[in-house]
Amino acid sequence: MPKLPDDLYRRWLEAVFPTPALHEDFIPPERWLQQVWRHQRLRRELLCTIDGEPVRVLHPGFWNRGAGPDFQQAILQFGEAPAQQGDVEIDLVPAGWRGHHHATNPAFQKVILHVIWDARHDAAGRPALALRPFLDAPLSELAPWLQTEAPRLLPDNVPGRCAAPLADLTHDALEGLVRQAALARLTRKASEFAVRARHAGWRQSLWEGLVGGLGYRHNVWPMRRIAEITGAGGTPPLADLLGAQARLLGLAGLLPADLPARNGDYVRALWDRWWRERDHFHGSMLPSGIWRLGGLRPANHPHRRLALAGHWLYNMLPGEGFDAWLADSDPHPDVSEALHRVLGIPSDSFWDHHWTLGSGPMLQSRPLLGRPRLTDLAVNAVLPWLLARAETGADPLVRRRIEERYLEWPAGEENAVLRLARQRLLGGRRRCLPRSAAMQQGLLALSQDFCAHADARCTGCRLPGLVDGTFGGRQTDENGRGEPAAVGGGAGPQPRLSAESSRLPPSGGVRNVP
Ligand code: SF4
Repeated sequence: MPKLPDDLYRRWLEAVFPTPALHEDFIPPERWLQQVWRHQRLRRELLCTIDGEPVRVLHPGFWNRGAGPDFQQAILQFGEAPAQQGDVEIDLVPAGWRGHHHATNPAFQKVILHVIWDARHDAAGRPALALRPFLDAPLSELAPWLQTEAPRLLPDNVPGRCAAPLADLTHDALEGLVRQAALARLTRKASEFAVRARHAGWRQSLWEGLVGGLGYRHNVWPMRRIAEITGAGGTPPLADLLGAQARLLGLAGLLPADLPARNGDYVRALWDRWWRERDHFHGSMLPSGIWRLGGLRPANHPHRRLALAGHWLYNMLPGEGFDAWLADSDPHPDVSEALHRVLGIPSDSFWDHHWTLGSGPMLQSRPLLGRPRLTDLAVNAVLPWLLARAETGADPLVRRRIEERYLEWPAGEENAVLRLARQRLLGGRRRCLPRSAAMQQGLLALSQDFCAHADARCTGCRLPGLVDGTFGGRQTDENGRGEPAAVGGGAGPQPRLSAESSRLPPSGGVRNVP
């Protein structure tokens, strides 16, 4: 075999990530600016706004790759003012603020700093900072790192104070802790179903839980409202499936006023049905602006979710089907497949081939209810609802069976909330936790119960102290081994707050932006 050229790999990288010509007027791509801010590759002691006010970054915030500001929960101090918590938005040029409609988007109300590349004026109506004068190295030096390493490196400001003590737990201790957090979350959701059932009945509470679950994550409340209206008695009988879908889409305010260029016949058929009963629901229709559509993946679009709920509405979703599924002591080897048969939908001639009312045909057909959504519905609605009902009976075996189903449920899709929880609590590393929905739910529970009550610097959070106080520092497993739990992907240095972070003042003066 011929000898490899010494610079082969470097040349590959240069071919894949060519460094642009960095002339004086070069404007870097926005993703470079995000990485500079995320890793704080700045001469931080010199930072000031374009108006000359000093800025101290107590925490840069957490990188948001979805809709909304680029960094959330940042903690900044302007001049001598008290530190404040809010979001940071990054645009290449000042005009990006208006050009991207941030000024009128409620999601950007909490932005406390507009970061741009290089300008002396900004019209965002809030403090602005130009990055270019404060880079900690020339852009020509930073460019290769920004292109290759920066996006996948976890900045040391992200792992929380609990990450180090949690990393010291044995595998069993960590798994047990996360499992308990998951079960606490299940119990909490069950009690919410029980409360709702007291007022609306078991069937209605399930209907609202399922339809609300379809709104995850930004449209839960509009979906729940639709479920409240359609579950109430006295609604006109439905003639067919299309009528059920038309009712839900019409109530949602999501039937287009003008027939779209594509799928005009289908939308016209929906309107034909909605016209007939629109008066009945007069006063209950939701304004279309209530839906958050920005940044949604096509599979999560409310059009599609309501079309799915239309099947359940038309077919009178059977609560007994869930009881039978639970009572089956030996369901299909894949427990989720068995539930899919209860909730599933045979096929839909339009929605198996279209993401939204206005989209063209898909290259490959997709079922309305896929596995990721089924997992969300199982752990957030079906199992908590069954548990709530089981609590009214006297059979402890039923509760145990529900918990077993919950704990063995296969893992669902990762999402931004889960990813951040993993980064903050586990330092971004994939500990050898089982790949299960319960482990995901447990991490979400810890994040909700602890992170949601602290700021980005973990100020005042009691979890690190509880872990240390309970497990007493470095753990040994039952065999007396002193190694912490195995770490998937290789053990790196223990995540600790940077020296700078740990010097930061207490957050007594931090205030949230209303
Ligand atoms: S707020 Fe608490 S639970 Fe969240 S990362 Fe910080 S120390 Fe951990």
